[in-house]
Amino acid sequence: MKYRIGIVGSGPSGFFSAEHLLRMCEECEIDMFERYFDPFGLVRKGVAPDNPKIREVTKAFDNVAKNERFAYFGNVEIGKDISIGEMLNFYDAIILACGMETSQRLGIPGEDLPGSYTASSIVGWYNCHPVYRSLDIALEGRVAVIVGMGNVALDVARILLRATEELRPTDISNEALEKLEKSKIEEVYIVGRRGPAQAKFKENELQTLKGLSNIDIIVREEELTLNEASIKEVENNVSVKRVVEFFKEYTNLRRKNSKAIHFLFYRTPVRINGRGKVEEIVFEKNRLVGEPFNQKSEGTGVVDNIRCDMVISSIGYRGNILPGIPFDEIKGIIPNEKGRVVRNGRILERIYVTGWIKRGPVGLIGHNRADSLETVGCLLEDLPKLERCTIPNREEFIKFLNHKGIKFITYSDWKKIDEYEQRQGKLKGKLRERICSIDEVWEILGKSSTKV
Ligand code: NAP
Repeated sequence: MKYRIGIVGSGPSGFFSAEHLLRMCEECEIDMFERYFDPFGLVRKGVAPDNPKIREVTKAFDNVAKNERFAYFGNVEIGKDISIGEMLNFYDAIILACGMETSQRLGIPGEDLPGSYTASSIVGWYNCHPVYRSLDIALEGRVAVIVGMGNVALDVARILLRATEELRPTDISNEALEKLEKSKIEEVYIVGRRGPAQAKFKENELQTLKGLSNIDIIVREEELTLNEASIKEVENNVSVKRVVEFFKEYTNLRRKNSKAIHFLFYRTPVRINGRGKVEEIVFEKNRLVGEPFNQKSEGTGVVDNIRCDMVISSIGYRGNILPGIPFDEIKGIIPNEKGRVVRNGRILERIYVTGWIKRGPVGLIGHNRADSLETVGCLLEDLPKLERCTIPNREEFIKFLNHKGIKFITYSDWKKIDEYEQRQGKLKGKLRERICSIDEVWEILGKSSTKV
């Protein structure tokens, strides 16, 4: 085999990169690294459990993994178990596809009060993420406020309010389901700093709210006021028009159910108040200024409060620093030119980046296909000119891992866990019963644990 490529991360951007490389370069052999035992990144740990169709993309990833030039190393954390420098001994080039799984913070007083959560922790909680699965989440209050108008906010609102009998057959974590069964949350406010024409919701994701039984959608007519620039946005973009029309359908309706999702616009959070826990969130009302499709919110000085028991910030994701790799603190991404990693304006040879950590936390799963094609194109263009690694051999690499005492999960190990989860789920009438901890994994695989 001529070239050895390491991919850091097993989410969609990692798998799409592997797929392109295997197809476009017959001389390339690929090793993929994942810090958790299970692959697929946010497809497994981010997508809401009541949206299983989105997860079907993993069938295509299974096909990629069947290629004999591909190997999976789960439970191996690059930057902790192995450094980038060590990787460069074994790989001619590295693609960083490590995504983003930390929420942006609001940066307002009271954000750390009990009852204030980030969307990523809630999403991780219901998806059995090892870090968040036991999140100490209080659902004893009636009112939750979600800040941010993206699809993650809709996911979180749906899961908080959906009838638990509808969640039970999904692969939601048992811990989350048990808490949701006792939840007292009845009102969820989704609050945006700009208007309905600027909300980031996808129209078909908004439509999923219509399928929720026993939940009202509430929008006050005065919330839907549009300035001239927003009217132009509606007239010139069919997706924007559909989103605004969705909200119009729900104005001035009579309340029918005890549970509701309310949409409020033109409000920026300024403070969370409470004695020992969240009791209220304070917003400043906004107007919009600027050209159509480039409008910003501007405070009016008018304040508006919502009494609430829980605040969830859902204002986008942020990447984590990888030791040895440059990081743009402002954008929260790895600086790059078309996927070639850049340090102080100079290209860092043999290191590439793709996915959210390359372009920021925007776009759906499918967008990563084109994004990774750009990165792989650059890598293949550079490959013949690059300095080669000194140990281009998978067997030698496995010896190195063994020598370091790093116990890894292969793709066939993962398939055993995958089948086990589905079998256990079937017994309980669920899509799958998720395995959440590495100790359970070793137990199922019949190995003993040396690493947590
Ligand atoms: P997002 O779509 O970027 O939405 C973030 C929201 O937070 C926007 O409304 C934004 O307002 C607001 N915001 C940002 N900073 C703020 C601040 N400081 N104060 C108040 N509000 C602030 O992010 P996301 O919901 O996390 O989604 C990430 C990506 O995943 C998106 O591309 C999304 O489509 C995708 N996704 C897709 C699905 C699906 O297809 N089922 C599900 C989940 C996520 P501005 O517009 O004013 O900046």
